[in-house]
Amino acid sequence: MQADSDLEGLRKEVGNCKRCSLWKNRKNVVFGEGPENASIFLIGLGPGRNENLFGKPFIGAAGKFLNHLLALAGLSRKEVYITSVMKCYLPKNKATKEQINACKRYLDRQLEIIKPSIIIPLGNVALQYVSEKFNVGFDRISKIHGKLFNAKASWGEIKIIPMYHPAAALRNGALRKTLEKDWKKLRSVVLK
Ligand code: SF4
Repeated sequence: MQADSDLEGLRKEVGNCKRCSLWKNRKNVVFGEGPENASIFLIGLGPGRNENLFGKPFIGAAGKFLNHLLALAGLSRKEVYITSVMKCYLPKNKATKEQINACKRYLDRQLEIIKPSIIIPLGNVALQYVSEKFNVGFDRISKIHGKLFNAKASWGEIKIIPMYHPAAALRNGALRKTLEKDWKKLRSVVLK
């Protein structure tokens, strides 16, 4: 089977998922979007209100800011794959350990189908997932944001570049400049 059909099959599977109670709140599963051969793979926490309504990741204010950050790195949404640890609406913007454990299998499979060479976890929950999946110990995000880590995936060598979640800058304006600086630095990595 081609990667294409694997990903579409997985999307359908997630659409019917009731593995945790979050399915009760969802209007649309937010599976992820981007090219199936993307080399850059972004991971957020999970859908908010707008994402739930439209079934797309990172729309609304945080999405707009993410588009701006991608542009600073010389990238556009069309070139990267964007998804999240959780696929159903998080009314309080939080997921329990049990919910994460129930859902992370889908992110595992997305990664294994797409096989990106650069993974960018956005915020602490995604960072924790990446740490466990690729067996890399990270310090707190406040210490390691924007830094590059080498790791080994089942499909080969990868780079992990942890970033603050774009929504963090909307809550705390002081982080805006930090995020912009980190994403500008990313330009030299993605152009290699
Ligand atoms: S959040 Fe994930 S595990 Fe829970 S119902 Fe939705 S798709 Fe299934």
